[in-house]
Amino acid sequence: MDEKRVSNQKASEKNKKERNNHRAREIKSDKFKRVQSPSSINTYNQCPRKYYYNYIEELETFPSIHLIRGKLTHSVLEDFFKVDITKVSESNFMFELRIVLMELFKKHWNENADEINDLDLTQNEINFYHEETKEMVISWFKRFIHNIADDMNKVGLINAFKKHTPKTEEEFISEEHGVRGFIDAIYEYEKDVSNPSGKSDANILGNIHSRCEKEVYLIDYKTSKKAVITTEYRLQLAIYALLYQEKYGFLPKKAGLDFLKFDSAPLYLDVDKELVEMAKREVAKIHENTKTTDKKQYRKNITSLCKWHSGQCDFYDVCKDDE
Ligand code: SF4
Repeated sequence: MDEKRVSNQKASEKNKKERNNHRAREIKSDKFKRVQSPSSINTYNQCPRKYYYNYIEELETFPSIHLIRGKLTHSVLEDFFKVDITKVSESNFMFELRIVLMELFKKHWNENADEINDLDLTQNEINFYHEETKEMVISWFKRFIHNIADDMNKVGLINAFKKHTPKTEEEFISEEHGVRGFIDAIYEYEKDVSNPSGKSDANILGNIHSRCEKEVYLIDYKTSKKAVITTEYRLQLAIYALLYQEKYGFLPKKAGLDFLKFDSAPLYLDVDKELVEMAKREVAKIHENTKTTDKKQYRKNITSLCKWHSGQCDFYDVCKDDE
């Protein structure tokens, strides 16, 4: 067996172990056969048979450059928000923060380098993805720093940084609906309801005379090629809104996607009862459709996503010879 195959197998075993740990934690409830996620629901909607191979037979899955770079980009941004801003100078903050970001990018890319090198990619392709991923991080940084610069004159660097620092990678599990998810970034603002002109800085200014209500914005980072809220993304955001409401007892104001490849602000959906009800219905439908372990009940959806010029579905080889 060649080295690359052994290494891919190791990565795949790691994936399977993670998935099994994940399942062991999940199967606590008698109410559901398994806890769903935006990813499992999307898999079912894309191809029920793929769901069967992945979540019921638990066949091996393989890493891809898109998964690896998605994961490492999330880690870079998550770590960036942990920077000790008190050590950054107001006069040179753009330059200093950019250095911090680039160091983090280098660190996380290097930590994933073995896994990336084991993929079936040429050195040119690896270089391309390295540069493209770096550009995404820089593009995000430009928007972030623009927001900081806007607020800095009013409240100073430390408070401006605090204002634009979200809660990151928070895990949510709904016992009631049997669904889970990690929300990349949660921004909480205090809206001054005694001043209807917009978001208030009362939270960072400590203005005790303001009457404030919390406004929450949920964000998922995407490295996709197109900046569009597809049906699949809409459902993901609806599930996040549902999870947030169940944990905190109120609805976020908006849920959106930050398309890192694009030099523009996140695209948001307004969150309302209707959106959350749609999420409940879709999650319930998947639970119902995936109760059975009879493979024949999971139809194959043969499309261009089965095999394309540079890759194929993880289960293509099993699937093509299967009934
Ligand atoms: S190869 Fe195509 S039909 Fe088969 S499981 Fe994958 S996506 Fe579904």
